[in-house]
Amino acid sequence: MTGREVPVTRHVRAYVGLGANVGDARGTLSAAFRALMALPGARVRGISRLYRTKPVGVTDQPDFLNAVAALDVPAGPDAATGATALLVALKGLERSFGRRRRGRWGPRELDLDLLLFGRARLAIERPPEGTPLSAAVDPGAAASLLEVQHPAMRDRLFVLAPLADLAPGLVPPGWHETVETARGRREAEEGPDAVVPVAHWSEDDAAWVGPTGGPIVVDRATMADADEAARVHTASAAASYRGIAPPERGGLARRSAVWQEILADPASRAFVARDGGRIVGVLHLGPFRGDPSRGALHILYVLEAWWGSGAGQRLIDTAHAELAREWDEAFLTVLTANARARRFYERNGWRLAETLVEPHFGGIPTEVARYRRSVRPTPGPER
Ligand code: ATP
Ligand code: MG
Ligand code: MG
Repeated sequence: MTGREVPVTRHVRAYVGLGANVGDARGTLSAAFRALMALPGARVRGISRLYRTKPVGVTDQPDFLNAVAALDVPAGPDAATGATALLVALKGLERSFGRRRRGRWGPRELDLDLLLFGRARLAIERPPEGTPLSAAVDPGAAASLLEVQHPAMRDRLFVLAPLADLAPGLVPPGWHETVETARGRREAEEGPDAVVPVAHWSEDDAAWVGPTGGPIVVDRATMADADEAARVHTASAAASYRGIAPPERGGLARRSAVWQEILADPASRAFVARDGGRIVGVLHLGPFRGDPSRGALHILYVLEAWWGSGAGQRLIDTAHAELAREWDEAFLTVLTANARARRFYERNGWRLAETLVEPHFGGIPTEVARYRRSVRPTPGPER
């Protein structure tokens, strides 16, 4: 023997569908996802947005909230054993969240369905612990097998939409199309209102969060906002750069220092957008580095769940008004690859001035686009 043996557990990527429509469904689903994160041996690999969905099957009941989680779980000796163990754990969570015996497809505190278990295709007898709660009122359910992939997932937009957040390009076993293609097909059939995203998972809150529907208010930021502004800045930047830049580490510590410094300076022009009590966007303006006779929009970030909510628009309107107090013209830079942000600035009158390559993300040469905009309140007559 050559020393210690390191036990190797093979893992399988599983996708679990979450649903609820009784009581505080959002609170239940947030707690259920935290419980999935705590399942022994399981590692959470992703969580979709939260969707408000029209009930399917039994339509005379409240709207549902649905989401999908990606987990890596122990493979077990074979797929049937591994998948059954996961299903038993899911049914245990449903019970612990107070799911009561009602008919299948009816209202429920929590539904946890096993959608995919690696590339397994299974139809097997379930052990007694896996017996559904609905078996008491629906003998058909008692006789049903554990089926993976979940047999209905392909026909359900409330499954395909959140699954496409996590794995749009996945072609599940036996399919000839991606999850995203199936999602588009179902959306054409069910219509745009059947399944609507309403919230994003927030690591800070360990819960899904989203717009309250109330007014979004922009205020000058104060020192008391430094920590929350840094968290919003960091979470928003991570969402903006997802897929176009490497994920960063240690961003929060750095940005906490940045916001402490900004807010300690009485000459700073820093603002926050609030929805209810929560900061959902941050803004910082100042002189353009290298040419203080021009202004610069240094920082404008909005939490992903508030994209399209009007928070970004409120902030940029504030930016234009504040820049105009001191300058005629202003600059900003944005990653060339950040198409969404560039469209936002172009809609708001910013024009591309030049592209540059600068070190970002720990020294990686990165192409950025510099935009300029006149910020004079009303252009005076030509002289
Ligand atoms: P649906 O399965 O159509 O979404 P449901 O979730 O409302 O219906 P439940 O009351 O949760 O139905 O019961 C589902 C039954 O199907 C249970 O007996 C469960 O053990 C069984 N089942 C079979 N395959 C799966 C699966 N992949 N995930 C979850 N339950 C499954
Ligand atoms: Mg279900
Ligand atoms: Mg179920």
